[in-house]
Amino acid sequence: MESFLRFLFFPSFLLLLMLPCCSLFAADQPRPSSLRIHCGSLLDPASDTVSRDVVILIEDGIVKQVGPASQASSGDAEVDVSHGFCLPGLIDVHDHLTSEPKDAGYQSLGVSFPREAVTGAKNARLTLLAGFTTVRNVGAGGYSDVALRDDINAGEIPGPRLFVSGPPLGITGGHCDNDLLAPQFQATSEGVADGPWAARRKVREVIKYGADLIKICASGGVLSKGDAVGTEQYTLEEMRAIVEEAHKLGRKVAAHAHGTQAIKDAIVAGIDSIEHSSLIDEEGIELAKQHHTYLVFDIYNDTYILNEGPKVGMLPESIEKEKATGKLLRANFRKAYLAGAPLAFGTDGGVYPHGDNAKQFATMVEWGAKPIDAATVNAASLLNLDGKAGTVKPRIIRRYHCGRIRPAGECRRVVAREIGR
Ligand SMILES: [Zn+2]
Repeated sequence: MESFLRFLFFPSFLLLLMLPCCSLFAADQPRPSSLRIHCGSLLDPASDTVSRDVVILIEDGIVKQVGPASQASSGDAEVDVSHGFCLPGLIDVHDHLTSEPKDAGYQSLGVSFPREAVTGAKNARLTLLAGFTTVRNVGAGGYSDVALRDDINAGEIPGPRLFVSGPPLGITGGHCDNDLLAPQFQATSEGVADGPWAARRKVREVIKYGADLIKICASGGVLSKGDAVGTEQYTLEEMRAIVEEAHKLGRKVAAHAHGTQAIKDAIVAGIDSIEHSSLIDEEGIELAKQHHTYLVFDIYNDTYILNEGPKVGMLPESIEKEKATGKLLRANFRKAYLAGAPLAFGTDGGVYPHGDNAKQFATMVEWGAKPIDAATVNAASLLNLDGKAGTVKPRIIRRYHCGRIRPAGECRRVVAREIGR
């Protein structure tokens, strides 16, 4: 399986293209400067079409040509999938690589941050082998997700291209706080910040320590103790402050939000994606469409929580909460899909075993959706990877002459002019 080719081969002759992110090969292995892949079929999720007998030419890790096999140039190396099916690497925008289902409830108290990082290394590999070449990790302790991302980027361990949030922000006693221990333990989670200015400070802090995005808890949750799923947690005022601060610093914000009003407040505050979205109503769906806010429905894991949750130590109240919300989440997913709301594919990996991410496709189809664009072009757009992931198209690299450059790499002066491709 390990090869310089940066591709995943499946027994069913399915080839997922994973350029130019993640690596399954050792950093010192030689790579060909150009590679020709002959696909029997190639899926383009953007146009929802399948082309037959196609060749993809890749140079220095970038797709340079996609076209009929009869007209394609040759490469230094060739991969023959002429009897197989090719598609872009898949994207999961809601994952927890550093945790496992058995870490639920009181068992979570015995897991150290270094252990989370090691668990993350194992799960990053599993998730990549499951066909997911880009993952957004939304919430991890001790910046274990930052260490994981940096190790993958350094080529030291195999894994998907990662976007990580560090510790999630939340209110005292909320879904993103540690509510398991008695008062004498004075336990508070790293991301707790109450009030607009404390929340702004926390945004600055997690970015300082390496977060690519901000994750917040806008409502109660299923796997937390003592809060109701539908209740609001962060206020509109707090969320506006978080969004303003994060966007100013070039980061997007993902909000855990099950509750009807919490979802609407999060969208109005300018949050970029709503995680779970369980109790969204028609007004919330319309707001998501108006603001182009991505809804991330993790519609597979209900099956796992109800069947396996009690066996792996999830709290009895969590099972009850899942019974009350799981079906509603699925029905509301269908409503949002039919209404044409922006959807991105996120599964809440870690609640169910890592590597099973693709099971959610089957559940989405069962509930009447055609979900491939949610896990490719839509997810790429949410992650600012348009044209770089979620599709297999020749990539145009533009070069600009800038007066001055911002830290984010953009031209500061509008005198920028394109000087070539
Ligand atoms: Zn989650």
